[in-house]
Amino acid sequence: MNDAICEVCGKKAEKLYSVMIEGSQMLVCKECASLGKKVSQKPPKKMRFITKDEEKEEYLIENYGVIIKNKILEKYRDLKEFCKKYNYKESYLKKVIDEELPLSIDEARKLERILKIKLIVIEKKENYEVKEKELPKITLGDLIKEKLNL
Ligand SMILES: [Zn+2]
Repeated sequence: MNDAICEVCGKKAEKLYSVMIEGSQMLVCKECASLGKKVSQKPPKKMRFITKDEEKEEYLIENYGVIIKNKILEKYRDLKEFCKKYNYKESYLKKVIDEELPLSIDEARKLERILKIKLIVIEKKENYEVKEKELPKITLGDLIKEKLNL
C-alpha cells in the first residue's frame, strides 16, 4: 500500500485509480487518471455480491428472486410442491425469493442446477466492462409478461 506506483508515469502516488487506457485497465495516479476512463472498483449495485477471491468475483443476477419464483411456478403447481420434492423449507424459500435472506453460492448453484437457470454472474477482476454486457437480458417487463401468461 505504501509503494503505490503509477503504471503510466511511474511516480509514487498516495492513491491509485483504476482506469481504462487504450483498452487496458491500469492503476494510475490522480494526474494520469484524467487520461483514461475511470473503472468502478465496486461491484455494480444491482447485483448482490456473493464470493470473492483473487481472480474472480461472483454475483447474483438482478431480480434473482423473481426469476427463481417464475421458474418454479412454471414447472410446479406451487412453491409447496417444489419444496417437498427438493426438501426445502417453504419459509426459507419465500425469504430467498423476496431477497430477504442472502442466497449462498452453494444454494445458488443448487437452484441453478435444479431449475436450469442462470443466477450467478462470474466476473474476472480485470474485466468488469465486458462481463456487464454479457448479463442475461431479462427485464422486469418480460418477467411480468411471463407471469400474466400463466
Ligand atoms: Zn501517473
